[in-house]
Amino acid sequence: MNEKIVPVPEAVEIILKSVNPMPAERISLTEATGRVLCNDVVAAIDIPYSDNSAMDGFAVRAKDTADATGPSPKTLRIVDDIPAGTAPKKIIGMNECAKIMTGGIMPQGANAVVMVEFTEQTGKNLAIIKKGVREKENVRFKGEDIKAGSTVLKKGKIIRAQEVGLLAAIGRSSIMVHQRPRIAVLSTGNEIASIDEPIGSEKVFDSNSYALFSAAKEAGGSPVQMGIVRDIESELTAKLEECLSFDIIITSGGVSVGEYDITKKILSALGGEMKFSKVAIKPGKPFTFGLLNGIPFFGLPGNPASAFVSFEIFVRPAILKMLGMKNRIKRTLHGTMGADFKNKPGRTHFVRAYFSYSENGEITVSPCGVQGSGIISSLAEANCLIMITPEKSDVKKGEMVEIIPMDNLHLLNDRSASK
Ligand code: AMP
Ligand code: MG
Repeated sequence: MNEKIVPVPEAVEIILKSVNPMPAERISLTEATGRVLCNDVVAAIDIPYSDNSAMDGFAVRAKDTADATGPSPKTLRIVDDIPAGTAPKKIIGMNECAKIMTGGIMPQGANAVVMVEFTEQTGKNLAIIKKGVREKENVRFKGEDIKAGSTVLKKGKIIRAQEVGLLAAIGRSSIMVHQRPRIAVLSTGNEIASIDEPIGSEKVFDSNSYALFSAAKEAGGSPVQMGIVRDIESELTAKLEECLSFDIIITSGGVSVGEYDITKKILSALGGEMKFSKVAIKPGKPFTFGLLNGIPFFGLPGNPASAFVSFEIFVRPAILKMLGMKNRIKRTLHGTMGADFKNKPGRTHFVRAYFSYSENGEITVSPCGVQGSGIISSLAEANCLIMITPEKSDVKKGEMVEIIPMDNLHLLNDRSASK
């Protein structure tokens, strides 16, 4: 076991080296957003499937409309009517045209479309063309968007709504993606009580398993709350054995140096491989990582802010790698400190903070209140973490700092509503 206090970047590297992308599964398009493709997707058909009209109007031979203007129009005979979804029946000959709607298939002989706005229909079958068109004008050609046989999405692509639309457009109803990792979320502690029970003053509601369940789900995992175990060796052993069918195990509590902190002992007793058990991070120093039967095991500290920050910094990148994503570490932003912040060097400090954009797009960020590792109110108010490197001491108002946005809704939340 690595007994030393591991720096944050090294800890992240060890974790990422220890986890692998999940196997593939086939899913339907409605399940696809946020998933990562396991294979290239090749189009089986051309898009558009055939030449069709980009406008409502008349399909014509361009040369028949040459020089047509309002004062000096051309009159063409209407020989067909082609709404979208109906095959043309006629070939367009000299001085003939077909009424056509957007998406209607171009009839043979025609090579352009005159917009209905520049035409008038007289009687049943005469179209007065008041503006000439060039060849190909207002026509969408077969395969101009996507060619049959071409790769439209590459392996590794993260599917968003746009990709879902593209897949549907080429007639793909399902795709192969990396499975979501199944994540066991377990709380430990004699004092921890389920939120469904009445409690006495010696107890604490289990907030971690809810926060971690939600974070794991938001990150793309498939979490299951495994309940609460007391700090009793046989109980924790039995519960961890139940967790061995999962792809990730997350526990909270019991990794510190207190008399009842038994998680690491049980992990070893079960034959787990401890990779490290202390990180130079604040909050979250006792964060422990290992492999139990080859399953990544994240031993998060019990204090709610420590547990949450440990999740953001260590668990989330692992989930993203398992989902098949390449850029696992969240992109950081830079902003100007809006207030002084007292900092003790020695560990990477992740400070709960709130950032906002000014009108010219610059970021200002200020710490939110009390930073103790048990304080949950500042965590709920924060929309980012300021990352202060171990060698840095106090940060002054006006200094540039690096921040990690914490969720997708960070800019939509009304800060005043959280007070
Ligand atoms: P531990 O890491 O087990 O020493 O716990 C540190 C602190 O975190 C204690 O004050 C616990 O009561 C608190 N804590 C541990 N687990 C949870 C939990 N699941 N939900 C809320 N608080 C917790
Ligand atoms: Mg405990």
